[in-house]
Amino acid sequence: CVCVDHLFFCLVHSCIVLGSAITRPPLLFPQDALEVLAESYEFKEIPGRCLAFRRASSVLKSLPWAVRCLRDTEGLPCLGEHSKAVMEEILQSGHSFEVEKTLSDEKYQTLKLFTSVFGVGPKTAEKWYRGGLRSFSDVLAAPGIHLNRMQQSGTSTSHHLATLPAVSKAEARALGNIIDEAVRAVTPDAVLALTGGFRRGKEFGHDVDFIVTTREPGKEEKLLTGIIERLKQQGLLLYCEYNASTFDMVKLPSHQFEAMDHFAKCFLIVRLEGGRVEGGLHGAEGDGRGWRAVRVDLVSPPMDRYAFALLGWTGSRQFERDLRRFARAERRMLLDNHTLYDKTKVLFQMRPSSNVLSPCTL
Ligand code: ATP
Ligand code: MN
Ligand code: MN
Repeated sequence: CVCVDHLFFCLVHSCIVLGSAITRPPLLFPQDALEVLAESYEFKEIPGRCLAFRRASSVLKSLPWAVRCLRDTEGLPCLGEHSKAVMEEILQSGHSFEVEKTLSDEKYQTLKLFTSVFGVGPKTAEKWYRGGLRSFSDVLAAPGIHLNRMQQSGTSTSHHLATLPAVSKAEARALGNIIDEAVRAVTPDAVLALTGGFRRGKEFGHDVDFIVTTREPGKEEKLLTGIIERLKQQGLLLYCEYNASTFDMVKLPSHQFEAMDHFAKCFLIVRLEGGRVEGGLHGAEGDGRGWRAVRVDLVSPPMDRYAFALLGWTGSRQFERDLRRFARAERRMLLDNHTLYDKTKVLFQMRPSSNVLSPCTL
């Protein structure tokens, strides 16, 4: 626990850059196979098995080397018999019968699609599936389905996205240049950081996530609308959903834990010139040059919330979950995208936000 403790404070305090170079072999990775099994048990609501596979997968993901044979994993924690058997099958034959069966299961595929929406968990996905729904269009057309704030923004963007292929690291870099240019045009001294999966060093992602803010308090409110306007003028914006900030420092912490934060944010689809054109939404101009559509998320917290937002948006979801669980269970603190809140001081503080730690006091 000393280790986890140390990691926790290092992360919150300095927001270490997690990226590292990862090479991508062509066959199914054992860690991805175990993740599929974890998800499948999550959908079946068998938490013990889900966690066992998820931990095994996380251990493999954290290795700085690629596992070539089972002997490479000797002495590693969290690898149970079942995980080892799946790994062995993949390492020997390149595939796993159990994983392939799971991947081709209609229920797994539908639940995977529904839970890809931020704010839709396995319970809601299962309910929709049982109600005969199989696609986002079914969900949006179904009578009597109440979608909360998160689910509304998720499903409304996701049904546009079903056909978008994965974004590569090179494409994420090219998009970074586009966003950087737009940000500078609006506010030259803005702070822009890549976050999400690409900040963790992933080779491919379903979108590209950025945090953008400015050192001048209050000015971040206008930043996103300025960037959106700029991208529109350049003819690069294919889709935009903007959510204004509902963040209020005085109301911290939220009584109910919310995965979705209150910062201004936008979910975009941006046209990337010269991108790969196979599959998905794309086109070719008269000069034959291709373009493709890429999903981009921008979030704009005030500068004094930057560290928490960066930590929260860097993911992975499992890592965020574990970090928050650790804060709650081991430290009696509440961690979310806005703040780290010390519950043990709540009785001794008069002002509602005075037990909210600022990143510089940690
Ligand atoms: P990929 O995009 O490649 O699927 P990712 O890890 O970047 O992987 P995202 O869905 O882009 O996944 O999310 C990145 C991080 O931001 C996650 O940790 C998630 O918890 C957080 N996040 C995503 N959407 C929101 C949101 N609307 N509000 C708050 N946090 C969010
Ligand atoms: Mn992402
Ligand atoms: Mn995202």
